[in-house]
Amino acid sequence: MAKKEQLTLEDKLYLVKFEPDEESHLVIKDMATCVEKCERPCTRFCPAGVYKWDEANKYIIVNYEECFECGSCRISCPFGNIDWKYPRGGFGVQFRYG
Ligand code: SF4
Ligand code: SF4
Repeated sequence: MAKKEQLTLEDKLYLVKFEPDEESHLVIKDMATCVEKCERPCTRFCPAGVYKWDEANKYIIVNYEECFECGSCRISCPFGNIDWKYPRGGFGVQFRYG
């Protein structure tokens, strides 16, 4: 039996295409909560690495253009601090094969 070939992350990223909107569909409601109360798990659980901690300026950078729309941050932020919605029609991630 032929061995199934495994795709690398780079291979998988090739299979998606992004059409970013001008406006973010991911909004942090209260940055002070991120800075003062949270251990910032969003920088680890997001599979696309959308959330990045900016140590110099003490805030979370949100690279919403790279979001896979998996919905994890909608339920996994311990403070419910992310206002999450799908991008407007025609924008966001597109999967090449289904
Ligand atoms: Fe802010 Fe939520 Fe990320 Fe914590 S997990 S840093 S509260 S967005
Ligand atoms: Fe990351 Fe998923 Fe949230 Fe998009 S919806 S920012 S991919 S965790």
